[in-house]
Amino acid sequence: MAKVAVVGAGLVGSLWAKMLANRGYEVSIYERRSDPRVGPIHGGRSINLALSDRGWKALEQAGVAEAVRTIALPIHGRRMHAVDGTRTFQPYGLEGQCIYSVSRGGLNRILLEAAEAMPGVSVHFNHRCEGYTHESHGVALHLEHEERPAHPVFERVFGTDGAFSAIRGQMTRQDRFNFEQTYLPHGYKEIPMLPGPDGGFQMEEDGLHIWPRGTFMLMALPNPDKTFTCTLFGPYEGEHGLDALTDDDKVMAFFEKHFPDVLPLLPNLLEDWNAHPVSSLVMTRCFPWNDGGRVALMGDAAHAIVPFYGQGMNSGMEDCSVLDELLENLDAGSASWDQTLQRYTALRKPAGDAILELALQNYIEMRDLTGDPQFLQQKALEGRLQRKHPDKWLPLYSLVTFSHTPYHEALERGKRQQKIMEGVLAQPERWNHFRDDAWMEEVLSQLHPGD
Ligand SMILES: Cc1cc2nc3c(=O)[nH]c(=O)nc-3n(C[C@H](O)[C@H](O)[C@H](O)COP(=O)(O)OP(=O)(O)OC[C@H]3O[C@@H](n4cnc5c(N)ncnc54)[C@H](O)[C@@H]3O)c2cc1C
Repeated sequence: MAKVAVVGAGLVGSLWAKMLANRGYEVSIYERRSDPRVGPIHGGRSINLALSDRGWKALEQAGVAEAVRTIALPIHGRRMHAVDGTRTFQPYGLEGQCIYSVSRGGLNRILLEAAEAMPGVSVHFNHRCEGYTHESHGVALHLEHEERPAHPVFERVFGTDGAFSAIRGQMTRQDRFNFEQTYLPHGYKEIPMLPGPDGGFQMEEDGLHIWPRGTFMLMALPNPDKTFTCTLFGPYEGEHGLDALTDDDKVMAFFEKHFPDVLPLLPNLLEDWNAHPVSSLVMTRCFPWNDGGRVALMGDAAHAIVPFYGQGMNSGMEDCSVLDELLENLDAGSASWDQTLQRYTALRKPAGDAILELALQNYIEMRDLTGDPQFLQQKALEGRLQRKHPDKWLPLYSLVTFSHTPYHEALERGKRQQKIMEGVLAQPERWNHFRDDAWMEEVLSQLHPGD
């Protein structure tokens, strides 16, 4: 069996280790933290995440989807809260289409246990990777451990060690490796919403609740224990900046003014506010994602993005399903490792860049446009088009969330569709007739002009 190493036992690393083990590789996983199953849960990242079709495909491919279904809560659309208390529901897609809320800790545990249960897989906690060197017979990992450092050698190494990847750090020292890191000038703070007096959810649990407020927003995603995780996203600086919320009075005044309907549901707001830090949001781009045929980056290590499309983990899982499919050719003897990892970079780098762009765009949509009447009108018109011609018109959100169309193709198609919809929106006198076959055909014909 070929010996490989996976650095980082997060969501992507654990899933990838399982896929490698399914193919018969002997996998050593190195994780800098202690085992989350025996110690405290490590904080610092979102408590729950939205899992959608790209993630599910990878989970199916790895053979773990059934276990994950047991902890997944279906979310059918956005539930918007205006300042005046008006509430609207906006379905995510066609009937039956939904995303799922899953707990980060629960998902990580399922993936890690599935990998660990495979023959040939070993997990080494409390091992911090500091980099690697090429040796004549493989790649030596530089591992820090409290007892002694170690330099085990592997045929191949997969860097799944997150946004601040040490494996990528090593690559940056190589000639012609590009790397770019940017922090969003906005941060976030998580606040738990406990169950109500009856022990049940305090709001509808079938939606992602959003309080869009222009330059900032509050969001809430449900958990199986009947709590919601609320997240306030906003700029650090400026009139509505997080930095200005320096004492209890200011926090209360801010919530009273902008989120009056949620205040009675958060009786421990001040305590929770003071107990949770404001976290930053980092974005990275790099190229290439492989070092020859021996080392590859996957997940946040290759492409850390902002969380506004709910696609960071999903795109990392898609890295796994794509590379797993490429290993099929390698196993069949029709490609070398060099070719396989080069192909992986070629397929995934444009996708990684595109989902970052999409996620940045979606932040504006979520915090600003979700409450905009023109935007809601467009959604309604697009919904009609999609219901009548589901094979021809897929709104951008559906392309990203409910399809496996590469992200860069989705981005391009989304831009074309947006232009077409702008033409439709410019004719408000005809909106009521936007069920007429002739008008719909006219709109659809603009998708592929000249066909
Ligand atoms: C607020 C927020 C909300 C989000 N919501 C969503 C969502 O709804 N849907 C979605 O798809 N994505 C979401 N994401 C993105 C998602 O969290 C990440 O894309 C995902 O965690 C990436 O998984 P990963 O395994 O690549 O990296 P990580 O989850 O960061 O795991 C990396 C692992 O490597 C370990 N490690 C790090 N350095 C070393 C080292 N030197 N040596 C050894 N081990 C190391 C870490 O301890 C960690 O266990 C969100 C992110 C944030 C911040």
